[in-house]
Amino acid sequence: MSSPLSVLVTAEVNEGNLSPITLELLGSARDLAEKLGGKVVCALLGNGVAGIAQQIIAQGADQVIVVDAPALQDYLSDTYTRVMEEVVRQTEIEIVLLGHTSMGRDLGPRLAFRLGAGLATDCIELDIDSGSKQLMATRPVYGGNARATFATDTHPQMATVRSKAMTPLPLDPSRQGEIVTLSAMPDLKAGLILSDRVKEEIKGVKLEDAPVVLGGGRGLGGPEGFQLLDDLARVLKGAVGASRAACDNGWWPASAQVGLTGKIVAPDLYVAIALSGSSQHMAGCSGSKTIIAINKDPEANIFKESQYGVVGDYKQVLPAFAKRIKELLEE
Ligand SMILES: Cc1cc2nc3c(=O)[nH]c(=O)nc-3n(C[C@H](O)[C@H](O)[C@H](O)COP(=O)(O)OP(=O)(O)OC[C@H]3O[C@@H](n4cnc5c(N)ncnc54)[C@H](O)[C@@H]3O)c2cc1C
Repeated sequence: MSSPLSVLVTAEVNEGNLSPITLELLGSARDLAEKLGGKVVCALLGNGVAGIAQQIIAQGADQVIVVDAPALQDYLSDTYTRVMEEVVRQTEIEIVLLGHTSMGRDLGPRLAFRLGAGLATDCIELDIDSGSKQLMATRPVYGGNARATFATDTHPQMATVRSKAMTPLPLDPSRQGEIVTLSAMPDLKAGLILSDRVKEEIKGVKLEDAPVVLGGGRGLGGPEGFQLLDDLARVLKGAVGASRAACDNGWWPASAQVGLTGKIVAPDLYVAIALSGSSQHMAGCSGSKTIIAINKDPEANIFKESQYGVVGDYKQVLPAFAKRIKELLEE
């Protein structure tokens, strides 16, 4: 159905909209497909989703394979695995990409097993080896202290990709592509049903989307310190993240932990306050455009990771920093 050496992106749809990870995967797939001399194909599964196929083309796909059925309303392991297996078998796909999301983490290994494919999970970099044309998939190992690059001889080659690790392409509504609808799918009666869906409540700006993130660490000494960060984040229309040490202490919600085992953020500005800058924490924020550190220890690792730094007690530095920002915003 598609040209050989194509790269397939598995789309994720949330409340009728494409998830940011899908746009990021399309950006990466475009780069890989160009290196392979192939196409970017996107599998769009869901119920009433056909209308967003054009947006997928505008974001970088050459072809969208739509499977639109009531049984695909919600992600269910069995149903989605069966449909995706069918999609991959019907297309000449070289590489299959999924988000390292709750869906991708479940679907990736199941699909890889059915296809007999090698799967690299939680990747932060993808490339094509110019000689062998194999996918080179890089992921953090040893608790974020090292990176390893994996390749597989299987066909297809598969990877799940961490959110915020890849850059989406700018929307180009003039891009042309093909939309193919697959209807002859296996019996889609779900073996399982989704009984409940719990929505995470977010006050203010979503951490992953915030242009400014204030990251607080153990040195804040308690939840009161985070209150200061929260007040400043509101002024900056940003969000507050935290190190694992601070979350483990219950000073800030675990859902806002930044790092290897937390969220990945890549804001325009990350202000690291009273955190040491461990490799595991930096795995979640090193993609920030600018990092400013406030730490009382001049030897703290965070100063090696930041472009600007203030050595001092945050209790003195932060109020002055906040005051100056408010003045600048009022000017
Ligand atoms: C497998 C694994 C996964 C992990 N995943 C993550 C992860 O996702 N995210 C994460 O963050 N960590 C993670 N960790 C933990 C990580 O190794 C560190 O322990 C953690 O990041 C330390 O948090 P911290 O920097 O807040 O605390 P500390 O390392 O204790 O640093 C506190 C800092 O605050 C400074 N400070 C103290 N008081 C003040 C003050 N008054 N004013 C200014 N500065 C002050 C100190 O100088 C110090 O630099 C992981 C660890 C492992 C083993």
